[in-house]
Amino acid sequence: MLLQQQQELENHYLMDTYKRKPVAFVKGEGMRLYDEDGTEYLDFLAGVGAASLGYGNAQQVQAMQEQVAKLVHASNYYYVEGRGELAEKLNNLLNENPGATRKELWKTFFANSGTEAIEGAIKIARKYGAKHLEGADTIITARRSFHGRTLAALAATGQPSKQEAFQPLPEGFKHVDLNDIPAIKQALNQGVGCINACAVLLECVQGEGGVYPCTEEYLQTVRELPAAKGILLIIDEVQTGFYRTGSHPFAFQHYGIVPDVVAMAKGIGGGMPMGAVAARGVAAAVFEPGDHGSTFGGNSLAITAANATLDGLQKMDAAGHVAEVGAYLMQRLRELPGVVEIRGKGLMVGVEFEKAVAEQIVAA
Ligand code: PLP
Repeated sequence: MLLQQQQELENHYLMDTYKRKPVAFVKGEGMRLYDEDGTEYLDFLAGVGAASLGYGNAQQVQAMQEQVAKLVHASNYYYVEGRGELAEKLNNLLNENPGATRKELWKTFFANSGTEAIEGAIKIARKYGAKHLEGADTIITARRSFHGRTLAALAATGQPSKQEAFQPLPEGFKHVDLNDIPAIKQALNQGVGCINACAVLLECVQGEGGVYPCTEEYLQTVRELPAAKGILLIIDEVQTGFYRTGSHPFAFQHYGIVPDVVAMAKGIGGGMPMGAVAARGVAAAVFEPGDHGSTFGGNSLAITAANATLDGLQKMDAAGHVAEVGAYLMQRLRELPGVVEIRGKGLMVGVEFEKAVAEQIVAA
């Protein structure tokens, strides 16, 4: 009844932006979802990477219930209980970096989604370029990347099929092939198209583009070259962050590099809408009052959810757990017939099947 009712109403009153599967969930527990008939589903989508603690985590539920009763939202004109602590936790997680020789001070802006985190990062890069790089304004990103759906995030995204209908998009983005060192060297050296770069923006493991990890050599080169010119390195950890790739809180920490700016979302809120952009060094001091803002970003309920999520991830040893079950998943996937390639890190895993097999799997 619920499904039929929702299908009728949603098909009539919602814009047609998703090809939805014919199911409506009413309950979740751990990694299981249930429809109204009580049919149980093993969920491998995790709310598109957002349900980092699984569903119905007791501590998160209790913390959020108590917070709802106390205060949901008051606004960014005031200080918010738990927000400084959350930013401190992020600072500590960003510093859990085997490649770093010293601790950095990471400063955070809280938003509501990944695309907003990326918008914040783009604005930091543009203002940084204006102030510190004689007006350099181009952001170099990768082909096949995905950075979000707002216009600037879409312009940063390296997928023409998603961009075509929405021209003109904001200017100042240049796309290069991922893992092509000569191409990024050429772009940074202004070899093509008069590039005047203020930042490079990359996912360590491209997610929506098909689960393509950066090679170590590539990311290390991309760290060194821009740094020498004062160009910022922005890492999009929206999908890879919060232990998704195992062993470390963030994917960049597998590569022994330290970015200047990190965009985060999805897993940070354990299902609550939240995004965050963190920056260190000069980039952390770019924004001044009035430069950026959000009505809801970092409000009391979102902060409570995120604090409970990060505490929960520590408690369950997500770093070790994801590495362990991720390795097991990869090993068992390799035993399957019809597999062309398995790519990824931790529990961010993509399987490329032979075409005929892939069609059967999607249908099933
Ligand atoms: N960046 C990456 C790498 C993503 O995977 C996504 C979403 O899938 C986004 C940005 C946009 O995040 P959101 O959908 O929360 O706006």
